[in-house]
Amino acid sequence: MRILIMGPPGAGKGTQAARIASFCEIPHISTGDIFRTEIKESSELGKKIKSYLDTGKLVPDEVTVMVIKKRLQQPDCSRGFLLDGFPRTIPQAEALDGILIGLSKNRLDLVINISVDAQVLLERLTGRRVCRNCGDTYHILYQPPQKDEICDRCGGDLYQRSDDTAETVSNRLDVYQRQTAPLLEYYQKRDIVQEVNGELSIDQVFKEIEKVIRSID
Ligand code: ADP
Ligand code: ADP
Ligand code: ZN
Repeated sequence: MRILIMGPPGAGKGTQAARIASFCEIPHISTGDIFRTEIKESSELGKKIKSYLDTGKLVPDEVTVMVIKKRLQQPDCSRGFLLDGFPRTIPQAEALDGILIGLSKNRLDLVINISVDAQVLLERLTGRRVCRNCGDTYHILYQPPQKDEICDRCGGDLYQRSDDTAETVSNRLDVYQRQTAPLLEYYQKRDIVQEVNGELSIDQVFKEIEKVIRSID
């Protein structure tokens, strides 16, 4: 199964993607996670892209496409994959089509679009906390860890992403509307988009997604 999970920043893509990946036994590929790892490691790529993430701007398409092309060539993608946060622009979607052809893989089977009201997104993003060690995601109100500031899964410290401040969030929501939302139409033309109400609880959203996945399996 080749799935793309879409939605504005804070819609719950990463949270749901972790569950979908384990349910479908496919790798969860998040360009945001890949970029943050590169920045943490201060690699050449990390240095080049840091300012984009800090300000909520999109990393240039050439760089992003190169990263995803390399990732999709890995052997764990042979049975399918779940993309989260890529593509984010029409040129990236076109490049993805080309990459899949080049790797003799079929097109995407399903696009799950999670919708959430803008005010709720702001609250979700500013309350988000992430484990420094394993990347697990929490929310101070909606998905709090058992012990304050400590990851339930690995005991690592939780931190607030530098782009989850009110100012950068409003920039990211704007970038989403202008550059990413038009992608929906690109996939709607192929008739593979399924809408999911992201304002339900985390468990309820996953139940809806599970239904959608079973229906196309
Ligand atoms: P995205 O990857 O789309 O930016 P995340 O999965 O990181 O979104 O979720 C953003 C924040 O909202 C996190 O703090 C997460 O714990 C919380 N969250 C995710 N889904 C829900 C939900 N259905 N209800 C309430 N909070 C949620
Ligand atoms: P969120 O889950 O909150 O939407 P991500 O972790 O997906 O955020 O992305 C964080 C940042 O990484 C983005 O604001 C952008 O700077 C960069 N980024 C991630 N994916 C892409 C992409 N496909 N194209 C360009 N930039 C990206
Ligand atoms: Zn952890």
